This record gives sequence, structure tokens and C-alpha cells, in this order.
Amino acid sequence: MANSEKRNKQVPLAKTMASFALQGNPVSRGITIGRAHLIPRAALDVPHYLVPQEKVEQEVQRLERAIGRVHQELADIWATLPNDAPVELGAFLDVHELILSDAMIAEAPLNIIRLRRYNAEWALLTQIEALSAQFDAIEDAYLRTRKADIVQVSERIMKSLQHENSTREKEKTMTPPAPAEDVATDMIVVAYDISPTDMLQFRDKVFSGFISEIGGKNSHAAIVARSIDTPAVFGLPIALSLIEKEDWLIIVADTCTVIVNPTGVVLEQYRIRQLAWERSQKRLRRLRKTPSRTIDGTPVSLMANIEFPDDCAAALENGASGIGLFRSEFLFLGKKGDKWQIPLEDEQFEAYKRTVMLMRGRPVTIRTLDIGADKPIGVSDFSAINPALGKRAIRLCLAEPDFFMTQLRAILRASAFGQVKILIPMLVHASEIDQTLSLIARAKAQLHAEHKKYDDTVPVGAMIEVPAAIMGISMFTRRLDFLSIGTNDLIQYALAIDRVDPEVAHLYDPLHPAILSMLSIAIRHAEKKGTSISVCGEIAGDTAMTRLLLGMGLREFSMHSTQILNVKQEVLNADLEQLTPQVQKILRLSEPDAISKAVQKIRQLPSALS
Ligand code: PEP
Ligand code: MG
Repeated sequence: MANSEKRNKQVPLAKTMASFALQGNPVSRGITIGRAHLIPRAALDVPHYLVPQEKVEQEVQRLERAIGRVHQELADIWATLPNDAPVELGAFLDVHELILSDAMIAEAPLNIIRLRRYNAEWALLTQIEALSAQFDAIEDAYLRTRKADIVQVSERIMKSLQHENSTREKEKTMTPPAPAEDVATDMIVVAYDISPTDMLQFRDKVFSGFISEIGGKNSHAAIVARSIDTPAVFGLPIALSLIEKEDWLIIVADTCTVIVNPTGVVLEQYRIRQLAWERSQKRLRRLRKTPSRTIDGTPVSLMANIEFPDDCAAALENGASGIGLFRSEFLFLGKKGDKWQIPLEDEQFEAYKRTVMLMRGRPVTIRTLDIGADKPIGVSDFSAINPALGKRAIRLCLAEPDFFMTQLRAILRASAFGQVKILIPMLVHASEIDQTLSLIARAKAQLHAEHKKYDDTVPVGAMIEVPAAIMGISMFTRRLDFLSIGTNDLIQYALAIDRVDPEVAHLYDPLHPAILSMLSIAIRHAEKKGTSISVCGEIAGDTAMTRLLLGMGLREFSMHSTQILNVKQEVLNADLEQLTPQVQKILRLSEPDAISKAVQKIRQLPSALS
């Protein structure tokens, strides 16, 4: 069903439940209205997606096969029971066999797949949740304990499904699953936590909004929510206890508010606001082809941050001048708990080449693996005591030169097809830069010897995301071709604020005088040395920061595609002659109140379009 049809559907207004509002941390923008889909803590490992209509029967058979395998497993266990095994064991197996054959397990989930097009795991989970609720309501204590047996049987089926999945996964390429067509858009996920990998499962827009008990604005899950342009609010403790399944919810992402069980009048008001928001987004689309220049004619490059080659479509639709950050690690993120899937050189090469080709001559900045912190890889050999400060990103790559070389070779090979730039994350030491450059030289030499094509002049740059990199910036400009400031991590490391921890989210302040002065040092130094510099952290897509960054001298911004046109509107309205001296004054301020007032003031300067 199309979104507009969904919206026009009659909403039952006569709700008797108490209406209340919750306030969380900002994540994305927009308004969405839908019914709560609760995902209990343990259930997040289960994939949730809608199966295209033509694949429904295949999915039914997948679940039937898994149930069949569990029958076989139980029979095998029976066959190998020693003669002196306690009788309870046999009885226990019988009970499990009975449950497995009962219609509540053998048929009901199959019907859920057929009716709702849920994938097998999700259908099974839905049925188990319904059964659990029924069992919880039973007075008889003995019968209540049978719930544990049902859960155990379902876990066996789930494992069997996952086993089949992981066997298939090995044969799959890195391309994410194709989105299901005709998906429902009126379900809002309410979860304890949503990892970036969970969020990626949801990027086919099965859900129209996300609410999570933990998580901050700068977590990678929040970044993915913004990149798929889906309203979300994180950091709502006990949301799972307060919100009930199927409750009506309104997410007002801009004000970080979730309204639970709104009255009919409130619901209608927000429907009108939702339409107005969508109309304003449509109007912005007229700026798509307008050159990005300030009032005085200074060109400003607005590029896109992407996670997958397929994201290029949105980048082009929003008029991106290139890809300023391709977070390549998203190609590597396997399912939670799985062994880390390292794509082969050819698979990586195909993904990079495809991106380059899709961008039709525009620059594509591929960041090498940035694994660690809130992008776990589900494999213990790389886990760190403090992941944000451990063997993350380039540290891991230099410790594992074989797979780093694989990625470098793949990127270099893609550079033969367009403008590729290599971006290295988390560099701090000169020795790390030198080692990286020599590995790139070695990769080039290998390709040369194998008569494989690559661009010998491919620019190599650094993410500036650790305060030490700013204080020692000349070490970087001396050795590298370009810089990109990763403010998400820079703020995390400079202010000692875990970017994913909602407890300290209020302290994560891009306007802290220390951050402003670090940004200014980096931008001025790069300008002096003629080294191009961009910002690719979240502040690049925050319109409240655009004029400030322009006044500091920044001319390259990279952000989610969905933010490009909003930022372009700010650029078109900015007069650098007016702004630059004002921003220089702001940089001399040290009191937070004075800074935020002055930043407000420059946002209100008269503009060309006002
Ligand atoms: C950053 O740190 O600002 C950045 C762009 O990288 P990531 O968010 O992927 O860590
Ligand atoms: Mg970073």
C-alpha cells in the first residue's frame, strides 16, 4: 500500500487508553504516526523483514524445512538415549515432539507468513510471543511452566533457520537484500537497543519509525536512521514497559517527542503537520540543480555520506557533488553473533567499482575499514576492553595487513574507473600514516606486476577525528593529499563523552569552545597549506552549524543525502563577507551562553532569499 493511502486510512479515534508523552534524545527529523511493534531485548537478533508476495510460499517452505529438521533432531536424540537414561528425559522429548507437531507451532506461524508476509523467524517469534502471553495468563502453575517448553522448541526452530541462513550467506555477495515491495509503513519499532546492523535490516522501510531505550544522537544506529530518513527518538528509558503492543504512537523527531495513545484531535493535528512537513521537503527538491554558492558567489561543495553502493541513487537525487564518505565497513558488518564475513577482493572491487560508475565521474571518497566501538564485528578475536579506545579502524587494519591489503587492492582497482580518493580513519601517529602509505605503495606495485589497472595518482587523506591529530596537524598536511574532519569522534574524544551513551548525551556539545577552536585550527592550517579539507561528521548536515562552518572557512561538507538540500538552502542564503568577521568574533568567545547566542544571531543575518 502506498504511503498516502496508508495515511488516509481511518484511524480508530475512540481510544480509551491514557495518552502521555515521552521525551528522548534527538536522532532524525520528521513526523511519523503508526502502531507500536515491540521488540523485546532478546528478539533483536531475529531478522525482521517483509517477504515479497511472490516469495511467500518459498518462505513458508523454509519454515517447514526448519520444523522438519527439528523433528529429525529430536528423533536422533531419542535414538541415542542410553538405556539407563532417566525416564523424565524421554517424557521431555515426547512433550517437545508433541509441541512441534501441534498446530500452534506447525501451522499458525505459516499462516502468519501468508497473511502478513513476515519472514519465517519474525512469524515464529510473533506466534511465540502470542503463546507466551496466553500462558502467562493461565492460573495453573504447572501449565504455566509449559511455556518454557514452547520457548525451547521455538529456539530449536530458530537455530535451524539461522543455520540454513548462514549456510546461504556464505554464498551470497555483499549486496544487502533487495527491499520488499509494497511494504507496510505504519509500524514503529520500540526496542531496548537498536544496533547499526539491526537498523540496516530495517532500511527497506518495513518500519516507519524507531524508538529505543538507549542510544544517542551520534551512535551509528542514529546515523543510519538519518540516512534512511526515518523519524526516530532514542534514549527513552523503560519505553518497552510503558508502551504496549499496537499502541498508537506519534514520533515528532525534531522535538524528540513520542506521544503514546494520542486522542483523536491530537492525532489529526499531527497528521496535518506531517503533511506540511512532507510538502516542505518536496519544495526543497526544487533546489536540486541549483549550483551551491553563497550570495557572494563562493562555491561550496556538498557531498554525500553513504554506507552502500545503492545509496548513490539518493545522493544523485539530492544533487550531491560526490561521495565525501563511503563507510566501507558496512559492507563487512555480518549478522550479530556470526563469524565476521570478510568480503573477498573481487567482491569488494565490484562494490567500489559500482559506486564509482553510479556517481558518473564525481569523486568517491572510500574510507577504509572503521570497525570497532559501536560497529562490533561479532568476533571475539578483535574485541577490545574499551572498544572506543582499542584496536579500532586503522589500528586494526595495520595489525591485520593481509585483509587491509585486500581492501587497498580492491579500492585501487576501482580507481581505474573514475575519481577515487582513499580516506583513512582514526590516524593519530606519523608512523601509522607512513605504514599506510607504504602498504598502498605495495598494493600498487602488486597490481602493476599483475598488469591490473589503477590510478597511480589516487589521493590519500586522513580522517581528523582525534584531538591529537589537530594539535599535530602539520604531520598530516605534510604527508597526505586531503583531510576530512570526523566531528562525531572528535567531539567524543575531546570531551570524553561516549557518543552512544544517553546518560551523557546532553554533554555532547559541538559548540564547546574547545571544539570550535579545534575546527578552526584544522581549517585554517589546511587552507594555509593548500590542502583540501571537509567535514563529514554529523554537524556537516546540521543546518544550525552551516553558517558557523562557512564563516570558519569551510568549503566542503559531506552529509547524509537527505540533508543536502536543507544545507544548500543555508549556503544559498549565506553572505561570507558578513559572516566571516562575525564568526571570527565567535571564535574569541569562551562562555557557552555567549557562543550559543552569537551562533543564533548569525543564523538570523539577513539573507538573499528572505
Ligand atoms: C566521524 O567520526 O565524524 C565520522 C564521520 O565517522 P563515523 O561517524 O563513521 O565514526
Ligand atoms: Mg569516526
